[in-house]
Amino acid sequence: LKSLAKKSSKNAAPVKTAAVIGAGIMGGGIAYQSASRGVPAVMKDINQAALELGMNEASKLLNKQLDRGRIDGIKFGKILASITPSLDYANISRSDVVVEAVVENPKIKAAVLAEVEDQVSENTVIASNTSTIPIGLLAKSLKRPEKFCGMHFFNPVHRMPLVEVIRGEHTSQATIDTVVAYAAQMGKTPVVVNDCPGFFVNRVLFPYFFGFSSLVADGADFVAVDKVMEKTFGWPMGPAYLLDVVGIDTGHHAAQVMEQGFPERMTKTGPDAIDAMYQAERFGQKNGLGFYAYT
Ligand code: NAD
Repeated sequence: LKSLAKKSSKNAAPVKTAAVIGAGIMGGGIAYQSASRGVPAVMKDINQAALELGMNEASKLLNKQLDRGRIDGIKFGKILASITPSLDYANISRSDVVVEAVVENPKIKAAVLAEVEDQVSENTVIASNTSTIPIGLLAKSLKRPEKFCGMHFFNPVHRMPLVEVIRGEHTSQATIDTVVAYAAQMGKTPVVVNDCPGFFVNRVLFPYFFGFSSLVADGADFVAVDKVMEKTFGWPMGPAYLLDVVGIDTGHHAAQVMEQGFPERMTKTGPDAIDAMYQAERFGQKNGLGFYAYT
């Protein structure tokens, strides 16, 4: 993997400026990670409160770095100042890479990607942080599909090393090289994967979520399931807590894409805990109430 990043870094010019569309759990994390590794990032959202939350999260993470003596006050200020919150596209035209991280909805993503393409230069690479939606489907809204690919980070962005780089049917090798190099600049471990619903990780993860969800529908106690998976099976967290961290709304939208993408393998056969939580608007940590309550 190191050699993949090295090879692509050789082929691609380093990314100097970036933009992230969406300042939620993922967009905020991506902007912070980029800025903290020396690549200034514009962070655009349609919601002022989301921008403020994104900046607050970045400050919190920087404060932790400061407390641990990893950065000084000057570096703190410099990194924070290199994230530019924005409600419009004014500052993204010269970005080398734009990472789209808005809600997991194919129609909204397609509209946002087309909007972004109209704002940037022909050389800008556009990448989507979609968890599950095929890159080939999103590319249909673009005039330059060769400059587009997937760049799928994991949550929390500052801690999770993996980035899936998804090659769509029309993605050029130069685009892959740029995104692999950018992931490496961000201190991440990129893997290039083929295009399909859920790519690599979520093809593995969603059957697990569906299995968990049907266990709960069959009467299992989700707290007990979490305890077993965490304490005795040895995973860092159980499925209910993980869904709360991911966001039940995002999990629900992604589950729909997986079901449509693999109707024979991933169709649910009965009542479903993820759907029930979504209908009850229990979206997890982001709104304080999911499988668990957060104050
Ligand atoms: P989120 O709900 O926390 O944030 C989404 C943000 O997008 C919100 O701030 C919203 O205001 C903004 N937004 C909506 N429409 C917009 C538009 N037209 N222009 C600009 N901003 C807009 O969601 P999230 O968890 O950050 O997920 C974002 C993307 O990342 C999704 O595609 C999701 O599947 C993917 N993803 C999520 C996780 C996770 O664990 N949450 C992990 C990997 C990938």
